[in-house]
Amino acid sequence: MFELPELPFAKDAFGAWTSAETFDFHHGKHHAGYVQKLNAAVLGNEFEGRSLDEVIAGSRDRNPKVFNLAAQHFNHSFFWSCLSPESQTPSGEFVSLIDRDFGSFEQFRNQFTDVAATHFGSGWAWLVRSAEGILVAKGFHDAQTPAQTEETPLLTLDVWEHAYYIDHRNDRGAFIEGFWNHVNWRFVERQVK
Ligand code: MN
Repeated sequence: MFELPELPFAKDAFGAWTSAETFDFHHGKHHAGYVQKLNAAVLGNEFEGRSLDEVIAGSRDRNPKVFNLAAQHFNHSFFWSCLSPESQTPSGEFVSLIDRDFGSFEQFRNQFTDVAATHFGSGWAWLVRSAEGILVAKGFHDAQTPAQTEETPLLTLDVWEHAYYIDHRNDRGAFIEGFWNHVNWRFVERQVK
C-alpha cells in the first residue's frame, strides 16, 4: 500500500506565500486522493505490490489511469521535499553547474520562471539533468514526470491551479516569485549524484 508522506515542515511555516489552508487541500485532499485512488487502481493487477518506481515505469505507455495517479504521488512527494520555510542559498558547487549550463544563476531563474509562468494549463516546471548530464528547465503537462526516465529530477514547482489559487487566485506569477524564497537547495543538491 502506498502512503501519503507527512509534510516535512509545519503547514503554517510559509506565511502568505502558501497558507496552511492550501496545504490542507493540496496535501490533505489532492495528494491524499491520488494515493487513495492509486491503491485502489493497483489492487488485483500486475502493479499490486510493486514499488512506486516500478509502477511508474511499467504503466507510463500502457495504463494512463495508473500512471497518472502514481506519477502525481511521485511529483507531489518530490515537490514537498523541494520546499523550505527558511530562505536558503545554493552551494557554490551547485551554482557552478548552473553557470555551466545556463550561463548564470539569474538566467537559470529566468528560464525556470518562464517555463512555470507560460505553461498552459495544468502541469509542472522541472529542473532536470539530461542523459548527457546537462541541466535543463522544462515543463511537463498534467501528471507527466521525469521520474523513471533518462532524465534525473532535481527541482520542481507545481503549477496546477490547486497549488496557488487559494492564496494567489489567478496570479501564478506571484506564486512563482515567492517560490524562489522557499527552495530547499540542500535537497536539490542531494539529487545531483
Ligand atoms: Mn498539486
